[in-house]
Amino acid sequence: MSRLRSHKETHLVDRIGWLRAAVLGANDGIISTASLIVGVAAAAANRNDVMIAGIAGLVAGAMSMAAGEYVSVSSQSDTEKADIAREQGELRSNPDGELEELAEIYVQRGVEVGLARQVAAQLMKKDALGAHARDELGISEMTTARPVQAALTSAATFSVGAAMPLLMVVVSPANLLVPVTSAASLAFLAFLGAVGAKAGGANLLRATVRVTFWGALALAITAGIGKLFGTII
Ligand SMILES: [Zn+2]
Repeated sequence: MSRLRSHKETHLVDRIGWLRAAVLGANDGIISTASLIVGVAAAAANRNDVMIAGIAGLVAGAMSMAAGEYVSVSSQSDTEKADIAREQGELRSNPDGELEELAEIYVQRGVEVGLARQVAAQLMKKDALGAHARDELGISEMTTARPVQAALTSAATFSVGAAMPLLMVVVSPANLLVPVTSAASLAFLAFLGAVGAKAGGANLLRATVRVTFWGALALAITAGIGKLFGTII
């Protein structure tokens, strides 16, 4: 067994990126669709209406997540590309200045001047752009933005989350739609919160309570509004 493999905790950050995104997407799907269902059901709609509203909510939410994620990650990717291009230009036009710049970064981090120059020179000899991208711009392989992947992942995880309360509409007795959907959705949220916390090495109880509290608040507010409008109209 190599030394690196025994240090499992250093790899936590690798998976926390996609896992956090997946859990967040599913949370969004559960909260927004369950709220929609509970709101419409509280307004005394029948199961069919509730189902249609829920499915529309799932589709709309998945699209909006995908579009939002695509735009956000694309603009991040554009910024990174522009930064890299500028860095490339600077490396070509002013290699000595760039060597000093990189060495200065290591000095700031606590390396002594002579050694910092040596490290900078050796790193730049192998991959000058990579060294500058990583240590000057903070762009590494791991953080490189992938808009399409991000968009598809968001839409998929949102849909999986949204399907859970929708399923409750199908299996719940018609007169218990609101309590069954609410309770089941909160249980799903708590479960996801625990999974996310466990995988991320965060505090289990705090993460679970937090997500369940906000979910309950969202459900209560939409149920209240649904009830209000159901009585008025
Ligand atoms: Zn540079």
